[in-house]
Amino acid sequence: MIFTGCSGSSFRKYVQRIAIVFALLFVGFSPVALANSPTPYKVILQLPWHHQFQFAGYYAAQQQGFYQEAGLDVEIRSGFFNNNQLANSAEEVVFQRAHFGVARSELLIHHARGLPVVVLANIVQRSPTVFITLEEYGFERLEDIGDRPISLTLPDATYGNLLSAETLGALKAAGLNINSLNNHSPTWKLEDLIEGNTQLMPGWATDEPYMLERMGHRPVTISPLDYGIDLYGDLLFTHQQLLIENPSKVEAFRAASLRGWRYALDNPDSVIEYIVENLQTPGPLYDADFFIYEAQQLRQFMQPELIEIGYINPDRWQAIADLMEELEMIQQVSLDGFLYQPSTSSDEWQKLWNWLVIALLMLLTTFALIGWLHRSNRKLVLEIRKKEHTEKELIELATLDPLTGLMNRLSFNEILQQSVKQARQLQQPLCVMMLDADNFKQINDTYGHLAGDVVLKNIATLVRTLIRTDDIACRFGGEEFAFILTNTRLNTAHLIAQRIVNEIADTINQVNDIEILCTVSIGLAELNSSDKDGISLLNRADTYLYKAKDLGRNQIAT
Ligand code: GH3
Ligand code: MG
Ligand code: MG
Repeated sequence: MIFTGCSGSSFRKYVQRIAIVFALLFVGFSPVALANSPTPYKVILQLPWHHQFQFAGYYAAQQQGFYQEAGLDVEIRSGFFNNNQLANSAEEVVFQRAHFGVARSELLIHHARGLPVVVLANIVQRSPTVFITLEEYGFERLEDIGDRPISLTLPDATYGNLLSAETLGALKAAGLNINSLNNHSPTWKLEDLIEGNTQLMPGWATDEPYMLERMGHRPVTISPLDYGIDLYGDLLFTHQQLLIENPSKVEAFRAASLRGWRYALDNPDSVIEYIVENLQTPGPLYDADFFIYEAQQLRQFMQPELIEIGYINPDRWQAIADLMEELEMIQQVSLDGFLYQPSTSSDEWQKLWNWLVIALLMLLTTFALIGWLHRSNRKLVLEIRKKEHTEKELIELATLDPLTGLMNRLSFNEILQQSVKQARQLQQPLCVMMLDADNFKQINDTYGHLAGDVVLKNIATLVRTLIRTDDIACRFGGEEFAFILTNTRLNTAHLIAQRIVNEIADTINQVNDIEILCTVSIGLAELNSSDKDGISLLNRADTYLYKAKDLGRNQIAT
């Protein structure tokens, strides 16, 4: 395509205008802009535990401004209150003291009790929950607990409300009767394990083994997975009512959190730095080294390479429900309403509609642009054609004689030099013929200048028919003509000249009702070795022309 037809500046202005329209459209309609209401929407996210890398995705969403971009002002609350009491994130959300919470598969128990909780995203695909003991206590299987003092979250313990399907399921699978165990309420204090107050405690594969090793002990972990118990780890959830009342905010929070998780897994160091510098952690052991270990472990339980972060698998949830039912933790329950489905709510339709409008406007603008380019291109092609035509005319004007259409004197001189050179290279003969109309002044005086012009035109037309197409004919000036006869000897040239003289003399020039007769004289010369160049040859022909005039005109002189 040719763009150069329009002036550069007007094209730039046009493109600038289109760019501004596009930018306004995008700013006006993009989901980011839609979510970016002037006053951010305040929400609280309740964590179930201390600040640590376990919740990195939410910190990353905060740190990187993903929540802010989504129009949200988020407070991330530690799982421990001021008096160091552990919060129950499910209760915080159910009683609407928090908008969102992080919990584990046991959230299903609340759903089964009819509480309005909805899973938004399964962040950790495999549960890192483990049983922890020390090598010195000499057992590696639940079957070998015997009457050792242990501290698990069993129904009779203080933390009975933290009933763990993994604990119950694994103990059951190991064939143990929970009522005959020497169980105490768990304190989650490593000192109790180290001092032997308990020989088996619940923990996370991402935490306690590292801490114990760092304190110089040799931890042993027993995983519920070894007993076929496969539950989800941390999940994000909300209150059913919030989802009904403000689905776009819930979706915005979910999307920003998942974006935060992707960032955290790709850039753990940056998030660790944020945690260390900005958040209150339980103590000096929770340092950057620990968080690096935790990040590596957590990645294995999240399996981001295999499963999309946040993916909710209804079949797995059904299996978890079946297990809990079997463990008599819940009654049979339907999962309806418990698992979030990011779908086309009215809000989604609105978004879709906005995008459609953008697409349509883009299409229209593109068509307008194409139309404009097409028009300017056509205009340009026409202009170029006109220019070419004018150029041709100018060239003709510079090289041709307007009256006769023959070459003018300037071009003739140039061609004469080239022809002489070529004839010498090819060792070919060459003749130059000078022709002058006889007593032309008299013709003009008698019949008028215009009649004289007609006679000159007739001479030119006639001569052209008598010479070869390769030969060069020129109007040398006034009533004088010059010819180059290439590859022609003098005797042949003489015959041609004679024919010209005769034919012109025999021609009756009809001008209106008047008949005008005219004769011409010709001087003829052939190129010879003494000719310095074309000019000396031309001069000789001219000299002969005078000779022909002197001899009485209407004849040839050589
Ligand atoms: P001679 O036989 O000696 O050549 O006589 P002549 O009259 O032809 O020679 P002269 O040089 O005295 O006059 C040439 C005349 O040719 C003078 C001029 O008016 C006329 N002439 C020159 N150019 C043109 C032209 O373009 N049109 C017309 N009609 N006449 C021209
Ligand atoms: Mg003359
Ligand atoms: Mg003359």
